[in-house]
Amino acid sequence: MCKPECYFCGTKSDSVETAIESCWLPSFYDGENEVAEPVCKACTADHLHRDNDGEFVRNTIGTELVRLSPDAREHIRQAYYAIADNLKPLADSLEMADLERGGKGGPLINEHLLVCEMLAAFEKLTVGRFL
Ligand SMILES: [Zn+2]
Repeated sequence: MCKPECYFCGTKSDSVETAIESCWLPSFYDGENEVAEPVCKACTADHLHRDNDGEFVRNTIGTELVRLSPDAREHIRQAYYAIADNLKPLADSLEMADLERGGKGGPLINEHLLVCEMLAAFEKLTVGRFL
């Protein structure tokens, strides 16, 4: 007998019937893809939302942000743009400082390279599309 296991938290239900009685979902959408894995009631509330068609869809950064308080969203927005506005100038300034010191390598260019890695990581963030 197959015991349903919640996709998100790993909780097991005794049977499909018990899962259905406990309001588990049999599947959900992750973007456009249907995930045929059960989800417990608690994880449905935590990780899914209903889209305009009434389907249960996995939360995204965008759907999480709209559920935040205006204050929390504003704090994220301000911090995001403070970094977005200053990370590249920091990388450039460190590179120029290294050149001022002869451009022979050393702590300034090492710091510049670290900030370049931070820039690459920052560009992976999708949160900025929703702020
Ligand atoms: Zn769960």
